[in-house]
Amino acid sequence: MPPSVLSKTNFLYGLQCHKYLWTLMHEPHSVPPPDAAMQFVFDQGHEVGDFAKKLFPGGIDIPTGDFSANTRITRENLNGTRPIFEAGILADNIFCRVDVLNPVGDGSWDIIEVKSATSVKDVNILDVAFQRFCCESAGLKIRNCKLAYINTRYIRHGEIDPQQLFTIEDITERVSEVSGSLAEQVEEILAVMYQQQCPEEGIGPHCTDPYECPLQQACWSFLPENNIFDLYWAGKKRFELYKNGIVHMKDLPAGFELNGKQQIQVNCVASGEPYVNKEGIKSFLDSLQYPVYYLDFETFGTAIPLFEGIRPYQQIPFQFSLHVALNNSEGAVHFSFLAEGPEDPRPKLAAELKQLLGDSGSIVAYYAPFEKQVLNELAVTFPEYREWVDGLQGRIIDLLKPFSNFHYYHPKQKGSASLKKVLPALTGISYEGLSINDGKLAGVAFMAATFGNASEEDRRKIRRDLQEYCGQDTGGMVEIINKLCEMAG
Ligand code: SF4
Repeated sequence: MPPSVLSKTNFLYGLQCHKYLWTLMHEPHSVPPPDAAMQFVFDQGHEVGDFAKKLFPGGIDIPTGDFSANTRITRENLNGTRPIFEAGILADNIFCRVDVLNPVGDGSWDIIEVKSATSVKDVNILDVAFQRFCCESAGLKIRNCKLAYINTRYIRHGEIDPQQLFTIEDITERVSEVSGSLAEQVEEILAVMYQQQCPEEGIGPHCTDPYECPLQQACWSFLPENNIFDLYWAGKKRFELYKNGIVHMKDLPAGFELNGKQQIQVNCVASGEPYVNKEGIKSFLDSLQYPVYYLDFETFGTAIPLFEGIRPYQQIPFQFSLHVALNNSEGAVHFSFLAEGPEDPRPKLAAELKQLLGDSGSIVAYYAPFEKQVLNELAVTFPEYREWVDGLQGRIIDLLKPFSNFHYYHPKQKGSASLKKVLPALTGISYEGLSINDGKLAGVAFMAATFGNASEEDRRKIRRDLQEYCGQDTGGMVEIINKLCEMAG
């Protein structure tokens, strides 16, 4: 596409932030590439887009690789009566690619935008409004605008049924509502694109909404340690403070209303010391019944369900790590499961876990609702596990609680009670050196190793990295409990 042409994607980026769009156009080398988790989201989008074509039999697939060929072949088919996929529409200096341009008689068309999301978002309305503006500017008659997105109530039985997989919603009215100012917005964004200087733009909520901006590291790097954006659950208040020139937590004005947890945090920043509520910690530890099982699942979810009986994006457990401590003085024994091969991993995983979890003793998880949900969903697909799963629920204890309740807080947690922040702050064990260091990456890596075309060497490395990562989560929980025991005395 010629650099002077404004695409739909860049229009949306420009609406989000002028600086981001300008950098993307003028200094693309300074925009970090998407990480594996983000790339997976993009790939899912393409897969879903291809699948949606089944909803429009007889459609013409326009090749997208070559911009000129894409727009030319689209033009050649605009007099026809068949749906057009990936229709490239150029109107002066704006361009859009329409997922499906569907003929509806008397020379009019419906625009169908396909998303791998599960609901209609405001940004989707602007996205389609730009497409309609572009199509109408190119002389097309547009009747209705629709969004096809993933229906999360669909459950796969046999072959995927595209009619059931997608919800198609008419968004024509909502598109019209935002279209009044579209011509001016396009002019404004084109002007940003053509200017020589990078526009000034301060940080704000727009850095993550509607998209996570990849320039955040650069733009936010000026903030000092213990800045107000780390204030626990402070939401929009943080931006109000920032607008009023308050950057560091120590500069919070006297009388600024803080809740109990935020007050603990601010006190810890001032003193540099952790906060310990011995009674709270003791009461949590008293709830543990030995043997204690430290459990963590890794999961993946796909827009198009891979296995029988599951919903889109249902989290499929493929790995668990389990540390078992018989009492609080001996070391814990480690067990693990990592699925092999492309079949549904759940039957083997459930059978193995059932063997290991025993009939009594606490099951400790970090953010336990997730482990509870994974177990529950196992029992939905495999009712033979229902009784066992129901029996486990009352044994599950959430290790997040002492930290989200601020029974312990260390300034290094930076306002977060997540395991990734608590473990290093409390024990010095860090996730930084690990190749896989969060759950999303774990799921994506497993999929690459299992369903992708990773080489044997890469596959082996991914499996080793997965074992190391998941093992650190449960081994880390053991260390955290040991530290809490020391504190409780
Ligand atoms: S991080 Fe924020 S300010 Fe910086 S380019 Fe992105 S959206 Fe704009």
